[in-house]
Amino acid sequence: MRAWAMTDYGKPLEEIEKPTPVPTGTEVLVEVSHCGVCHSDLHAWDGYYQLAGGRRLTSKERGVQLPMALGHEIVGRVVGMGPEAKGVSVGDRRIVYPWVGCGHCDRCRDERDNMCLDIKPLGIRQDGGYGSHVVVPHPRHLVDPGDLDPAVAATYACSGITVYSAIRKLMPLPPTKPIVLIGAGGLGLSAISILRALDHEAIIVVDTDKRKLEAAKQAGASATVDASEPEVTARLIQAAGGPLEAVIDLVNSSATARFVYEGLSKGGTVVQVGLFGGELTIDLPLMAMRELALRGSYVGTPKDLRELVALAQGKKLASLPVTLMPQSSANEALQRLKDGQVVGRLVLRADAVVQA
Ligand SMILES: [Zn+2]
Ligand SMILES: [Zn+2]
Repeated sequence: MRAWAMTDYGKPLEEIEKPTPVPTGTEVLVEVSHCGVCHSDLHAWDGYYQLAGGRRLTSKERGVQLPMALGHEIVGRVVGMGPEAKGVSVGDRRIVYPWVGCGHCDRCRDERDNMCLDIKPLGIRQDGGYGSHVVVPHPRHLVDPGDLDPAVAATYACSGITVYSAIRKLMPLPPTKPIVLIGAGGLGLSAISILRALDHEAIIVVDTDKRKLEAAKQAGASATVDASEPEVTARLIQAAGGPLEAVIDLVNSSATARFVYEGLSKGGTVVQVGLFGGELTIDLPLMAMRELALRGSYVGTPKDLRELVALAQGKKLASLPVTLMPQSSANEALQRLKDGQVVGRLVLRADAVVQA
């Protein structure tokens, strides 16, 4: 098999050849046709996450071994399976749930793989979809996309379930209760279309990029706030018609966490999703007196993926703008994302599929 693998952090990916894995037990071998390029790929490429006080959480201390193929928004066809893999057949097209855990702890057995204490996501801690093939531990990590566009379906495995799971943590809310989304990149646009599909009406989107705010409006945001201008909190409260009750921070930097925290209403909830990095100093008495909730949300569960695919198949989900690039352009795709030039999602397509 071929892979566009990370051989050193921050260095260009290299095309490598390696033996195609032979699936054993419940494993399924998938030939990759599409793989989305996600912001998490940039963090994995950097090899660290920025923590408070200038500290870093490095991939090395999390047990990542190089070379490794990035990519966790994968669609492909089943080409082989171990003797205990039931419910799929060779030739089936499937979306891969990449947030796989150890497979045998309580959380994994309860299909909360993303909360496994020994999580080993595909494309983050083991080989992912920037390659011709990927090994999936169990058929339950595969979801049938039906007649969905595979390039769009691929994005459901990360950006889709990430926002779906964050939205679930705020619901139920009346459709006219403002939900504030921080960030109008790929995640923000996905969140807008999912909220719209769930018949939510009041969606306020914040970003520093006017082009992205325009895209958000077109995707169905009811209001936008430009965070490149001063007094963000005051303008946000004005747009929401009062202090904020429900926020999803898809950036989650020191700056965004600050203006969100300062705008919170009594009983307000912030779901922190982004991995930009930084820190937030909070006033502890206000946390108690105002019953504030700051809670994290990390990707989603296999059930989230199945529900989201069902929502999309009901034709109620607007697809986010997708730009296809050949798989061999993985480096260029990462660089474009890093340079902030991407509206919507870049999806790598296997070169064989491009030629077909
Ligand atoms: Zn991702
Ligand atoms: Zn586990």
